[in-house]
Amino acid sequence: MTNNSQRPNRRTFLFTAAGACGVAALATWRPALAVAAGGAPGNVTIIQFSDAGKPTGKVTVPKVVRSDAEWKQKLAPISFEVTRHACTERPYSGSTWNNHDHGFYRCICCDNALFSSDTKFESGTGWPSFWQPIAKENIIEITDGSLGMERTAVSCRECNAHLGHVFDDGPRPTGLRYCMNSAAMRFVKTA
Ligand SMILES: [Zn+2]
Repeated sequence: MTNNSQRPNRRTFLFTAAGACGVAALATWRPALAVAAGGAPGNVTIIQFSDAGKPTGKVTVPKVVRSDAEWKQKLAPISFEVTRHACTERPYSGSTWNNHDHGFYRCICCDNALFSSDTKFESGTGWPSFWQPIAKENIIEITDGSLGMERTAVSCRECNAHLGHVFDDGPRPTGLRYCMNSAAMRFVKTA
């Protein structure tokens, strides 16, 4: 609870900014992340995880690159807007902000493993929040200057999907708060 009450102003602002996400907001949101989202083809090295949530080793795989039209066909509208256009879902609107099941989260676009329920915590933000990724190799962190403030955007290493942002007001042991979008991830329940 201490963490939640320390920075009311920023949280309020982020809430407002996210709530404004729509066609008009997207127009100003897109350019800042356009470079990252349009990444060149090539190989990436990630840590693979079985559906039981166990790491099965480091693998080098071709980066998943698809056109906007292809992504649009594959994804639900909200997942498309979040992952391919760096939009933010409305807080408390997603399917996993209040999920307490044991398991882990894969990228909705490419199935790359991203976060484990072992590091999920109650952030009070209405977005699924974690204090560290399942493997640092599996994500990319990029400085994001959109909305007139400097934030660190988090993307999927394998397909460049925008996932959310990371802030430095999280709980121990890392002090980080990975504030993710439910719509960017698929939950895999484990025993
Ligand atoms: Zn991905």
